[in-house]
Amino acid sequence: MLSKRYADMLSEKDIIFEIAGMAKRRAREIGEEHVYNFSLGNPSVPAPEAVNQTIHTILNDTPTLQIHSYGPSAGLPQVREQLARSLNRRFGMDYQPEHLFMASGAAGALGHALRAVTEPGDEIIVFAPYFPEYRPYTQGAGLRLSVVPADVDSFQINFRALEERLNPAVTALLINSPNNPSGIVLSSATLTQLAALLEEKQRQFGHPIYLISDEPYRELLFTGTEETYPARFYHNTITCYSFSKSLSLPGERIGYLAVNPKAEQAMTIAEVCPQISRTIGCNGTSTLMQLTVGRCADLTSQLEIYERNKDRLFSALTEYGFSCVEPGGSFYMFPRSLEPDDVAFCKKATELDLFLVPGTAFGCPGHFRLAYCVPEERVVAALPRFKQLAERYQR
Ligand code: PLP
Repeated sequence: MLSKRYADMLSEKDIIFEIAGMAKRRAREIGEEHVYNFSLGNPSVPAPEAVNQTIHTILNDTPTLQIHSYGPSAGLPQVREQLARSLNRRFGMDYQPEHLFMASGAAGALGHALRAVTEPGDEIIVFAPYFPEYRPYTQGAGLRLSVVPADVDSFQINFRALEERLNPAVTALLINSPNNPSGIVLSSATLTQLAALLEEKQRQFGHPIYLISDEPYRELLFTGTEETYPARFYHNTITCYSFSKSLSLPGERIGYLAVNPKAEQAMTIAEVCPQISRTIGCNGTSTLMQLTVGRCADLTSQLEIYERNKDRLFSALTEYGFSCVEPGGSFYMFPRSLEPDDVAFCKKATELDLFLVPGTAFGCPGHFRLAYCVPEERVVAALPRFKQLAERYQR
């Protein structure tokens, strides 16, 4: 019999892909150059040439049998060592290779982290606005999702609302900085306050509360924004990382999780990850890709293009009357919609062939997400459309 659980998911609408599909259909009708598609978070800058060169080098200098044979489920020790060294150097951490687990992107890392430190039925806290895939990720682990509403003036943490939601059933919190969809980076003041609150609640509840930090946009940090590494603030942190955005490799499905060595049962958390892989039929990641990211750990794509897109869009949109908290990183911004109904607003935008995603999709109505991982000339070409859209609301 067909699984009802998964069959039901077929009828859940993925609003982002629906909008992207509309943009594609419209492009076929009127031509790509007349469509302004800001709906998808797919990197628009290519992987650095050094990545392709590294792949060639690996294929030339590593025996074929070694590249294509089964590897250790946790990932290759030398790659975990290269990545641990890079993290230790950059963030003053003390990771051993054994604290790292190679995964298929941030999604794979999160799937393992969520299962490693919770039991089905536990509560997990997420913060609006949040990546919509957090719903299936957490539901798949049998968790109950508790959403903290946004502080829309800053998109830092709404601590009053968080405190109301913290109860003994909560065993983990999921944060994402730089954030999809707001582009906001959690400040050190926010992370300090969060750590103090969680320490207090751990003592009160008598069990650990793990912080799962989803960081696929870590390298997409804009000038002047403070770089904060959540694991530096709170011991019980599991960092989930991906090379999808930093090296523009989303199709290669490569990332890792890193357990803070100071976390309670740190080594065991990392050790259980391969056991989790066995239960979900997702064992190990590509050896070729592991070797590649190990050698390219300190490289990035030309990420400054995203910052130029942000600068252009932020200054133009605020001039046209949009209100927006300025992003500190990522390739998203999350302005207020010009009417309270963000779905109606995004529909109106499509009349101008502007494709945007309503904030409702991220648990934060009254806003819209603009993904500016597009060529710079598309941003320039779209500005008059944003102006027209704003003017329609000023009449
Ligand atoms: N987390 C967030 C916030 C994301 O935006 C994404 C992808 O867009 C992911 C996780 C999944 O990333 P990956 O491609 O590395 O699995």
